[in-house]
Formats: sequence, C-alpha cells, structure tokens
Amino acid sequence: MHRVPAGGCAVKDMFGVEITEEQALAMKKQKRPTSRKAMVAARQARGVHPHNGLPLLAASGHTCGDCGHKREDLGGYSRHWYKCALTPGGGPATDIRVRWPACVKWIVP
Ligand code: SF4
Repeated sequence: MHRVPAGGCAVKDMFGVEITEEQALAMKKQKRPTSRKAMVAARQARGVHPHNGLPLLAASGHTCGDCGHKREDLGGYSRHWYKCALTPGGGPATDIRVRWPACVKWIVP
C-alpha cells in the first residue's frame, strides 16, 4: 500500500523516482516540443534516440545509416524513406534519418 508522507502527497516522476511538488509543477509547466524537428532535437539533447527513445550508442560514431536494421522503402516519385526494421508499422512517424546517431540496438549490416 502506498503511504502518504506527513508533509503532503508523494509525487513520483515517470521513472518512479520521488520528486518534490515544486519539481513536479516545474515539469508540468515545461513546454512539450510542438514539431517533429523540435522533438528530435530535444530527444538528442537528452541522450536518447529520436525514433525509439532508446539510449544512444555513446561515442561510437555509428549512425542509423550504417545499421543492419535500417531498411529502405521505395516510395513513388523516386522518393526513398528509411525505416528501422525493429519498429512495426508505417507512416511518417516511423521514418528514421540516416544521419541520426545510432541507438543501443545497432548491429553490423
Ligand atoms: S536499431 Fe539501427 S536503424 Fe533502428 S533506430 Fe537503432 S540504430 Fe537506427
């Protein structure tokens, strides 16, 4: 059973770590990225992969472009879209960029 401390409610962040109410309010006020470009920049700044949110393969120099999971969808009008084979589904939200730094699931092609 969850116990409420004498000073107030116990607040936990999304990872289950207890934080103060002030920290929770500050997190709530933070603006969420409103565009895909902003989301990509925010995730990379946090050290996670823009596509799947996994940690980046630190200082390896590898990218999605040289990963064995990268696959290429040939679209109409001579367009190519790059996808990660580990992510099911389709559509723009599942696109990856070959220049993005690799995540920890990177494998040799
Ligand atoms: S598994 Fe490979 S292609 Fe998929 S996101 Fe990670 S590095 Fe990119």
